[in-house]
Amino acid sequence: MDFRLSDEQELIRQTAARIAREVVAPRAAQLDETGEYPEDIYQVFKETGLLGLNFPEEYGGSGAGTLGLGLAVEEIAKVENACALMLLLTKLSTSAIMYAGTEEQKRKYGEGTATGAIRGAFALTEPGAGSDSANIQTRAVQDGDHYRITGTKQWISGGTVADFFLVATKTRPEAGSKGFTVFIVDRDTPGFRVGKTDRKMGVHGVPTCELIFDEARVPASQIVGKVHEGFKVIMWNLNSVRPIVAARGLGTAEGAIQYAVDYARQRQTFGKPIIEHQMIQQMIADVAMRIEASRWLTYHACQIVDEGHATREYAHYLSMAKAFASETAVEAADKALQMLGGNGYMMDHPTERFYRDARQLMIVEGSSQIQRLLIARAVADDLLNWR
Ligand SMILES: Cc1cc2nc3c(=O)[nH]c(=O)nc-3n(C[C@H](O)[C@H](O)[C@H](O)COP(=O)(O)OP(=O)(O)OC[C@H]3O[C@@H](n4cnc5c(N)ncnc54)[C@H](O)[C@@H]3O)c2cc1C
Repeated sequence: MDFRLSDEQELIRQTAARIAREVVAPRAAQLDETGEYPEDIYQVFKETGLLGLNFPEEYGGSGAGTLGLGLAVEEIAKVENACALMLLLTKLSTSAIMYAGTEEQKRKYGEGTATGAIRGAFALTEPGAGSDSANIQTRAVQDGDHYRITGTKQWISGGTVADFFLVATKTRPEAGSKGFTVFIVDRDTPGFRVGKTDRKMGVHGVPTCELIFDEARVPASQIVGKVHEGFKVIMWNLNSVRPIVAARGLGTAEGAIQYAVDYARQRQTFGKPIIEHQMIQQMIADVAMRIEASRWLTYHACQIVDEGHATREYAHYLSMAKAFASETAVEAADKALQMLGGNGYMMDHPTERFYRDARQLMIVEGSSQIQRLLIARAVADDLLNWR
Protein backbone atom coordinates (compact mmCIF):
# COMPACT_ATOMS: atom_id res chain seq x y z
CA MET A 1 0.00 0.00 0.00
CA ASP A 2 1.58 3.28 -1.12
CA PHE A 3 -0.21 6.58 -0.54
CA ARG A 4 2.44 8.74 -2.26
CA LEU A 5 1.90 10.42 -5.62
CA SER A 6 4.31 9.55 -8.44
CA ASP A 7 6.81 12.14 -9.76
CA GLU A 8 4.57 12.63 -12.80
CA GLN A 9 1.51 13.24 -10.60
CA GLU A 10 3.47 15.72 -8.45
CA LEU A 11 4.47 17.55 -11.63
CA ILE A 12 0.83 17.78 -12.72
CA ARG A 13 -0.10 19.15 -9.32
CA GLN A 14 2.67 21.76 -9.40
CA THR A 15 1.85 22.83 -12.96
CA ALA A 16 -1.84 23.22 -12.15
CA ALA A 17 -1.01 25.04 -8.89
CA ARG A 18 1.16 27.53 -10.79
CA ILE A 19 -1.60 28.15 -13.38
CA ALA A 20 -4.15 28.50 -10.57
CA ARG A 21 -1.98 31.08 -8.81
CA GLU A 22 -0.73 33.06 -11.81
CA VAL A 23 -3.57 32.82 -14.34
CA VAL A 24 -6.85 31.87 -12.65
CA ALA A 25 -6.71 33.57 -9.22
CA PRO A 26 -6.25 37.12 -10.58
CA ARG A 27 -9.43 36.70 -12.68
CA ALA A 28 -11.59 34.82 -10.17
CA ALA A 29 -13.64 37.70 -8.74
CA GLN A 30 -14.19 39.22 -12.18
CA LEU A 31 -15.45 35.91 -13.69
CA ASP A 32 -17.91 35.63 -10.82
CA GLU A 33 -19.16 39.20 -11.23
CA THR A 34 -19.45 39.28 -15.03
CA GLY A 35 -20.27 35.64 -15.83
CA GLU A 36 -17.82 35.91 -18.71
CA TYR A 37 -16.63 32.55 -20.11
CA PRO A 38 -12.82 32.56 -19.61
CA GLU A 39 -11.72 31.70 -23.15
CA ASP A 40 -8.19 32.97 -22.40
CA ILE A 41 -7.86 30.52 -19.49
CA TYR A 42 -9.22 27.70 -21.66
CA GLN A 43 -6.41 28.49 -24.12
CA VAL A 44 -3.83 28.29 -21.29
CA PHE A 45 -5.27 24.89 -20.29
CA LYS A 46 -4.94 23.85 -23.94
CA GLU A 47 -1.33 25.04 -24.32
CA THR A 48 -0.19 23.44 -21.07
CA GLY A 49 -1.83 20.07 -21.81
CA LEU A 50 -4.34 20.16 -18.94
CA LEU A 51 -7.24 19.50 -21.32
CA GLY A 52 -5.64 16.18 -22.34
CA LEU A 53 -4.76 14.80 -18.91
CA ASN A 54 -7.51 12.23 -18.88
CA PHE A 55 -6.95 10.91 -22.42
CA PRO A 56 -4.58 8.16 -23.57
CA GLU A 57 -1.52 9.29 -25.54
CA GLU A 58 -2.83 7.63 -28.71
CA TYR A 59 -5.79 10.07 -28.57
CA GLY A 60 -3.76 13.22 -28.07
CA GLY A 61 -3.65 13.13 -24.27
CA SER A 62 -0.94 12.53 -21.70
CA GLY A 63 -2.35 9.35 -20.16
CA ALA A 64 -2.43 10.80 -16.65
CA GLY A 65 -5.91 9.35 -16.16
CA THR A 66 -8.67 10.30 -13.76
CA LEU A 67 -6.23 10.83 -10.89
CA GLY A 68 -4.07 13.17 -12.99
CA LEU A 69 -7.15 15.17 -13.97
CA GLY A 70 -8.42 15.10 -10.38
CA LEU A 71 -5.17 16.58 -9.07
CA ALA A 72 -5.33 19.42 -11.59
CA VAL A 73 -9.02 20.07 -10.85
CA GLU A 74 -8.28 20.16 -7.11
CA GLU A 75 -5.57 22.80 -7.59
CA ILE A 76 -7.72 25.01 -9.83
CA ALA A 77 -10.74 24.69 -7.49
CA LYS A 78 -8.60 26.02 -4.63
CA VAL A 79 -8.90 29.45 -6.25
CA GLU A 80 -11.90 29.32 -8.63
CA ASN A 81 -14.63 26.85 -9.45
CA ALA A 82 -15.78 27.62 -13.01
CA CYS A 83 -12.29 26.97 -14.41
CA ALA A 84 -12.21 23.69 -12.48
CA LEU A 85 -15.54 22.84 -14.11
CA MET A 86 -14.07 23.68 -17.52
CA LEU A 87 -11.48 20.93 -16.93
CA LEU A 88 -14.11 18.52 -15.57
CA LEU A 89 -16.13 18.96 -18.76
CA THR A 90 -13.33 17.37 -20.80
CA LYS A 91 -14.28 14.11 -19.05
CA LEU A 92 -18.02 14.64 -18.61
CA SER A 93 -18.50 15.15 -22.36
CA THR A 94 -16.32 12.23 -23.51
CA SER A 95 -16.08 9.52 -20.86
CA ALA A 96 -18.90 7.49 -22.47
CA ILE A 97 -17.36 7.97 -25.91
CA MET A 98 -13.97 6.66 -24.76
CA TYR A 99 -15.77 3.74 -23.06
CA ALA A 100 -18.31 2.68 -25.67
CA GLY A 101 -17.69 4.81 -28.77
CA THR A 102 -16.46 3.75 -32.19
CA GLU A 103 -12.86 4.38 -33.24
CA GLU A 104 -14.08 7.25 -35.42
CA GLN A 105 -15.97 8.83 -32.50
CA LYS A 106 -12.95 8.51 -30.21
CA ARG A 107 -10.73 10.18 -32.81
CA LYS A 108 -13.11 13.03 -33.62
CA TYR A 109 -14.55 13.83 -30.20
CA GLY A 110 -12.03 12.29 -27.77
CA GLU A 111 -8.88 13.47 -29.47
CA GLY A 112 -10.62 16.71 -30.45
CA THR A 113 -11.36 17.44 -26.78
CA ALA A 114 -7.91 16.35 -25.55
CA THR A 115 -6.19 18.74 -27.93
CA GLY A 116 -8.65 21.58 -27.40
CA ALA A 117 -9.78 21.59 -31.06
CA ILE A 118 -13.41 21.16 -29.96
CA ARG A 119 -15.29 21.08 -26.67
CA GLY A 120 -18.39 19.26 -25.52
CA ALA A 121 -21.18 19.17 -22.95
CA PHE A 122 -23.29 16.44 -21.34
CA ALA A 123 -27.06 16.59 -21.71
CA LEU A 124 -29.20 14.33 -19.52
CA THR A 125 -31.37 16.59 -17.31
CA GLU A 126 -34.79 17.80 -18.49
CA PRO A 127 -37.49 19.96 -16.92
CA GLY A 128 -39.33 16.79 -15.77
CA ALA A 129 -36.35 14.51 -15.04
CA GLY A 130 -33.29 15.17 -12.86
CA SER A 131 -32.60 12.54 -10.20
CA ASP A 132 -35.17 10.29 -11.84
CA SER A 133 -33.19 10.17 -15.07
CA ALA A 134 -34.94 7.04 -16.37
CA ASN A 135 -37.97 9.30 -16.82
CA ILE A 136 -36.51 11.52 -19.58
CA GLN A 137 -38.93 12.48 -22.34
CA THR A 138 -36.55 13.35 -25.18
CA ARG A 139 -37.38 10.97 -28.03
CA ALA A 140 -35.25 9.65 -30.88
CA VAL A 141 -37.22 8.13 -33.76
CA GLN A 142 -35.53 6.19 -36.54
CA ASP A 143 -35.77 7.66 -40.04
CA GLY A 144 -33.78 5.45 -42.44
CA ASP A 145 -30.10 5.66 -41.52
CA HIS A 146 -30.81 8.71 -39.32
CA TYR A 147 -32.75 9.45 -36.12
CA ARG A 148 -34.96 12.47 -35.40
CA ILE A 149 -34.52 13.79 -31.86
CA THR A 150 -37.20 15.89 -30.17
CA GLY A 151 -37.14 17.26 -26.63
CA THR A 152 -35.66 19.83 -24.26
CA LYS A 153 -32.64 19.54 -21.98
CA GLN A 154 -31.99 22.03 -19.19
CA TRP A 155 -29.14 23.38 -17.04
CA ILE A 156 -26.45 22.05 -19.37
CA SER A 157 -23.02 23.20 -18.17
CA GLY A 158 -20.88 24.72 -20.89
CA GLY A 159 -23.71 24.35 -23.41
CA THR A 160 -23.35 27.90 -24.70
CA VAL A 161 -19.80 27.26 -25.94
CA ALA A 162 -19.91 23.54 -26.77
CA ASP A 163 -19.27 22.20 -30.28
CA PHE A 164 -20.93 18.85 -29.53
CA PHE A 165 -23.32 17.36 -26.98
CA LEU A 166 -23.56 13.89 -25.48
CA VAL A 167 -27.35 13.52 -25.41
CA ALA A 168 -29.50 10.93 -23.60
CA THR A 169 -32.71 10.03 -25.45
CA LYS A 170 -35.41 7.38 -25.37
CA THR A 171 -35.79 5.17 -28.41
CA ARG A 172 -38.28 2.89 -26.59
CA PRO A 173 -40.28 5.24 -24.37
CA GLU A 174 -42.29 2.48 -22.68
CA ALA A 175 -39.18 0.55 -21.61
CA GLY A 176 -37.82 2.93 -18.91
CA SER A 177 -34.07 2.53 -18.46
CA LYS A 178 -34.08 -0.25 -21.08
CA GLY A 179 -35.13 2.16 -23.82
CA PHE A 180 -32.22 4.63 -23.71
CA THR A 181 -29.99 5.57 -26.63
CA VAL A 182 -27.11 8.04 -26.41
CA PHE A 183 -26.19 10.28 -29.35
CA ILE A 184 -23.43 12.72 -30.11
CA VAL A 185 -25.11 15.80 -31.55
CA ASP A 186 -23.00 18.41 -33.34
CA ARG A 187 -23.90 22.01 -32.66
CA ASP A 188 -24.69 22.74 -36.32
CA THR A 189 -27.24 19.87 -36.60
CA PRO A 190 -30.43 21.05 -38.37
CA GLY A 191 -33.33 21.11 -35.88
CA PHE A 192 -31.07 21.72 -32.89
CA ARG A 193 -30.52 25.02 -31.09
CA VAL A 194 -29.18 26.37 -27.82
CA GLY A 195 -31.99 27.97 -25.77
CA LYS A 196 -31.93 30.41 -22.86
CA THR A 197 -28.94 30.85 -20.58
CA ASP A 198 -29.74 30.35 -16.87
CA ARG A 199 -29.34 32.86 -14.04
CA LYS A 200 -27.73 30.95 -11.19
CA MET A 201 -26.25 31.24 -7.70
CA GLY A 202 -22.59 30.56 -8.48
CA VAL A 203 -19.98 29.08 -10.83
CA HIS A 204 -20.79 31.99 -13.10
CA GLY A 205 -17.81 31.61 -15.46
CA VAL A 206 -19.27 28.50 -17.09
CA PRO A 207 -22.86 29.24 -18.12
CA THR A 208 -25.59 26.60 -18.04
CA CYS A 209 -28.32 26.67 -20.65
CA GLU A 210 -31.27 24.99 -22.29
CA LEU A 211 -30.94 22.79 -25.40
CA ILE A 212 -33.84 22.44 -27.81
CA PHE A 213 -34.23 19.53 -30.22
CA ASP A 214 -36.99 19.89 -32.79
CA GLU A 215 -36.74 16.80 -35.00
CA ALA A 216 -32.97 17.25 -35.03
CA ARG A 217 -31.68 14.87 -37.70
CA VAL A 218 -28.69 12.86 -36.51
CA PRO A 219 -26.96 9.99 -38.37
CA ALA A 220 -27.14 6.55 -36.73
CA SER A 221 -23.33 6.57 -36.80
CA GLN A 222 -23.52 9.16 -33.95
CA ILE A 223 -24.97 6.60 -31.50
CA VAL A 224 -22.60 5.85 -28.61
CA GLY A 225 -22.78 2.13 -27.81
CA LYS A 226 -25.89 0.21 -28.80
CA VAL A 227 -29.47 1.29 -29.50
CA HIS A 228 -31.71 0.85 -26.40
CA GLU A 229 -28.63 0.14 -24.23
CA GLY A 230 -27.71 3.72 -23.50
CA PHE A 231 -28.59 3.73 -19.79
CA LYS A 232 -25.48 1.69 -19.05
CA VAL A 233 -23.46 4.18 -21.09
CA ILE A 234 -24.92 7.15 -19.19
CA MET A 235 -24.27 5.48 -15.83
CA TRP A 236 -20.65 4.82 -16.82
CA ASN A 237 -20.30 8.47 -17.72
CA LEU A 238 -21.78 9.68 -14.41
CA ASN A 239 -19.87 7.15 -12.29
CA SER A 240 -16.51 7.87 -13.85
CA VAL A 241 -16.88 11.65 -13.44
CA ARG A 242 -18.00 11.58 -9.79
CA PRO A 243 -14.40 11.48 -8.48
CA ILE A 244 -13.70 14.66 -10.43
CA VAL A 245 -16.69 16.40 -8.82
CA ALA A 246 -15.19 15.18 -5.54
CA ALA A 247 -11.85 16.76 -6.54
CA ARG A 248 -13.68 20.06 -7.11
CA GLY A 249 -15.12 19.74 -3.60
CA LEU A 250 -11.74 18.90 -2.09
CA GLY A 251 -10.03 21.87 -3.76
CA THR A 252 -12.86 24.24 -2.83
CA ALA A 253 -12.66 23.16 0.82
CA GLU A 254 -8.88 23.58 0.91
CA GLY A 255 -8.97 27.00 -0.79
CA ALA A 256 -11.75 28.35 1.43
CA ILE A 257 -10.32 27.24 4.77
CA GLN A 258 -6.75 28.25 3.87
CA TYR A 259 -7.98 31.77 3.13
CA ALA A 260 -9.74 31.87 6.50
CA VAL A 261 -6.72 30.50 8.37
CA ASP A 262 -4.49 33.22 6.85
CA TYR A 263 -7.09 35.80 7.90
CA ALA A 264 -7.37 34.35 11.41
CA ARG A 265 -3.63 34.79 11.95
CA GLN A 266 -3.97 38.53 11.29
CA ARG A 267 -7.34 39.45 12.79
CA GLN A 268 -7.19 40.35 16.46
CA THR A 269 -10.04 40.33 18.98
CA PHE A 270 -9.82 40.57 22.75
CA GLY A 271 -6.10 41.16 22.52
CA LYS A 272 -5.01 38.18 20.42
CA PRO A 273 -5.25 36.75 16.87
CA ILE A 274 -8.58 34.94 16.47
CA ILE A 275 -6.70 31.74 15.48
CA GLU A 276 -5.83 31.47 19.19
CA HIS A 277 -9.50 31.30 20.24
CA GLN A 278 -10.55 27.73 20.89
CA MET A 279 -13.89 27.96 19.08
CA ILE A 280 -12.06 29.14 15.95
CA GLN A 281 -9.58 26.29 16.38
CA GLN A 282 -12.45 23.83 16.60
CA MET A 283 -13.82 25.01 13.26
CA ILE A 284 -10.38 24.65 11.68
CA ALA A 285 -9.84 21.18 13.13
CA ASP A 286 -13.29 19.92 12.08
CA VAL A 287 -12.72 21.04 8.51
CA ALA A 288 -9.12 19.75 8.44
CA MET A 289 -10.31 16.23 9.39
CA ARG A 290 -12.98 16.28 6.69
CA ILE A 291 -10.50 17.55 4.08
CA GLU A 292 -8.03 14.74 4.73
CA ALA A 293 -10.83 12.13 4.69
CA SER A 294 -12.11 13.65 1.42
CA ARG A 295 -8.64 13.50 -0.09
CA TRP A 296 -8.30 9.75 0.37
CA LEU A 297 -11.87 9.00 -0.68
CA THR A 298 -11.31 11.13 -3.79
CA TYR A 299 -7.91 9.75 -4.82
CA HIS A 300 -9.11 6.20 -4.18
CA ALA A 301 -12.20 6.86 -6.30
CA CYS A 302 -10.00 8.22 -9.12
CA GLN A 303 -7.88 5.09 -8.92
CA ILE A 304 -10.97 2.85 -9.09
CA VAL A 305 -12.02 4.56 -12.32
CA ASP A 306 -8.50 4.30 -13.74
CA GLU A 307 -8.57 0.56 -13.04
CA GLY A 308 -11.71 0.33 -15.18
CA HIS A 309 -14.18 -0.21 -12.34
CA ALA A 310 -16.75 2.58 -12.84
CA THR A 311 -19.31 -0.22 -12.59
CA ARG A 312 -22.06 -1.19 -10.15
CA GLU A 313 -19.72 -3.36 -8.03
CA TYR A 314 -17.57 -0.33 -7.12
CA ALA A 315 -19.88 2.64 -7.77
CA HIS A 316 -20.58 3.18 -4.04
CA TYR A 317 -16.96 4.26 -3.51
CA LEU A 318 -17.39 6.88 -6.23
CA SER A 319 -20.65 8.00 -4.60
CA MET A 320 -18.99 8.24 -1.17
CA ALA A 321 -16.21 10.44 -2.53
CA LYS A 322 -18.65 12.66 -4.41
CA ALA A 323 -21.09 13.14 -1.52
CA PHE A 324 -18.48 13.50 1.23
CA ALA A 325 -16.15 15.89 -0.59
CA SER A 326 -19.08 18.06 -1.85
CA GLU A 327 -20.47 18.36 1.65
CA THR A 328 -16.97 19.07 2.98
CA ALA A 329 -16.70 21.93 0.50
CA VAL A 330 -19.98 23.41 1.76
CA GLU A 331 -18.97 22.99 5.40
CA ALA A 332 -15.49 24.44 4.81
CA ALA A 333 -16.86 27.43 2.90
CA ASP A 334 -19.48 28.01 5.61
CA LYS A 335 -16.90 27.85 8.42
CA ALA A 336 -14.45 30.02 6.46
CA LEU A 337 -17.16 32.66 5.99
CA GLN A 338 -17.94 32.52 9.72
CA MET A 339 -14.29 32.91 10.64
CA LEU A 340 -14.14 36.16 8.67
CA GLY A 341 -17.20 37.55 10.45
CA GLY A 342 -18.75 40.48 8.55
CA ASN A 343 -15.87 40.47 6.11
CA GLY A 344 -16.84 36.93 5.12
CA TYR A 345 -20.22 38.18 3.93
CA MET A 346 -18.75 41.00 1.84
CA MET A 347 -17.69 40.63 -1.75
CA ASP A 348 -14.26 42.11 -0.97
CA HIS A 349 -13.26 38.61 0.18
CA PRO A 350 -13.71 35.33 -1.74
CA THR A 351 -15.44 33.42 1.07
CA GLU A 352 -18.99 34.24 -0.05
CA ARG A 353 -18.04 33.15 -3.60
CA PHE A 354 -16.59 29.88 -2.28
CA TYR A 355 -19.85 29.34 -0.40
CA ARG A 356 -22.07 29.95 -3.43
CA ASP A 357 -19.87 27.84 -5.71
CA ALA A 358 -19.58 24.96 -3.23
CA ARG A 359 -23.35 24.69 -2.90
CA GLN A 360 -23.70 23.49 -6.48
CA LEU A 361 -21.61 20.41 -5.81
CA MET A 362 -24.20 18.76 -3.54
CA ILE A 363 -26.76 18.86 -6.38
CA VAL A 364 -25.00 18.05 -9.67
CA GLU A 365 -24.01 14.59 -10.94
CA GLY A 366 -26.48 12.95 -8.59
CA SER A 367 -27.48 14.85 -5.44
CA SER A 368 -26.20 13.94 -1.97
CA GLN A 369 -29.49 12.10 -1.37
CA ILE A 370 -29.09 10.00 -4.52
CA GLN A 371 -25.49 9.12 -3.57
CA ARG A 372 -26.75 7.93 -0.19
CA LEU A 373 -29.40 5.78 -1.88
CA LEU A 374 -26.67 4.16 -3.99
CA ILE A 375 -24.39 3.62 -0.99
CA ALA A 376 -27.19 2.15 1.15
CA ARG A 377 -28.23 -0.13 -1.70
CA ALA A 378 -24.65 -1.38 -2.03
CA VAL A 379 -24.54 -2.11 1.71
CA ALA A 380 -27.87 -3.94 1.50
CA ASP A 381 -26.51 -6.00 -1.42
CA ASP A 382 -23.42 -6.92 0.64
CA LEU A 383 -21.09 -5.12 -1.78
CA LEU A 384 -19.42 -3.67 1.31
CA ASN A 385 -18.83 -6.61 3.55
CA TRP A 386 -17.54 -5.84 7.05
CA ARG A 387 -18.07 -9.27 8.56
C1 LIG B 1 -25.43 24.51 -11.87
C2 LIG B 1 -25.94 23.22 -12.41
C3 LIG B 1 -25.29 22.63 -13.49
C4 LIG B 1 -25.79 21.45 -14.05
N1 LIG B 1 -25.17 20.88 -15.14
C5 LIG B 1 -25.74 19.81 -15.75
C6 LIG B 1 -25.18 19.27 -16.96
O1 LIG B 1 -24.16 19.73 -17.46
N2 LIG B 1 -25.83 18.23 -17.57
C7 LIG B 1 -26.96 17.67 -17.05
O2 LIG B 1 -27.49 16.74 -17.64
N3 LIG B 1 -27.51 18.15 -15.89
C8 LIG B 1 -26.93 19.19 -15.24
N4 LIG B 1 -27.47 19.70 -14.07
C9 LIG B 1 -28.65 19.06 -13.50
C10 LIG B 1 -28.36 18.24 -12.25
O3 LIG B 1 -27.69 17.06 -12.59
C11 LIG B 1 -29.71 18.00 -11.54
O4 LIG B 1 -30.08 19.24 -10.98
C12 LIG B 1 -29.62 16.92 -10.47
O5 LIG B 1 -29.47 15.65 -11.06
C13 LIG B 1 -30.85 16.90 -9.57
O6 LIG B 1 -32.02 16.87 -10.32
P1 LIG B 1 -33.19 17.95 -10.04
O7 LIG B 1 -32.54 19.28 -9.93
O8 LIG B 1 -34.21 17.77 -11.09
O9 LIG B 1 -33.75 17.58 -8.63
P2 LIG B 1 -34.93 16.54 -8.31
O10 LIG B 1 -34.61 15.24 -8.95
O11 LIG B 1 -36.23 17.17 -8.60
O12 LIG B 1 -34.75 16.38 -6.74
C14 LIG B 1 -35.22 17.39 -5.82
C15 LIG B 1 -34.76 17.00 -4.42
O13 LIG B 1 -35.29 15.73 -4.07
C16 LIG B 1 -34.24 14.83 -3.75
N5 LIG B 1 -34.62 13.51 -4.21
C17 LIG B 1 -34.99 13.15 -5.46
N6 LIG B 1 -35.26 11.85 -5.52
C18 LIG B 1 -35.05 11.36 -4.27
C19 LIG B 1 -35.14 10.07 -3.69
N7 LIG B 1 -35.47 8.98 -4.39
N8 LIG B 1 -34.86 9.93 -2.36
C20 LIG B 1 -34.48 11.02 -1.62
N9 LIG B 1 -34.38 12.25 -2.13
C21 LIG B 1 -34.65 12.42 -3.44
C22 LIG B 1 -33.01 15.37 -4.43
O14 LIG B 1 -31.81 14.97 -3.80
C23 LIG B 1 -33.25 16.87 -4.30
O15 LIG B 1 -32.82 17.29 -3.03
C24 LIG B 1 -26.96 20.86 -13.48
C25 LIG B 1 -27.57 21.45 -12.38
C26 LIG B 1 -27.08 22.61 -11.84
C27 LIG B 1 -27.77 23.21 -10.65
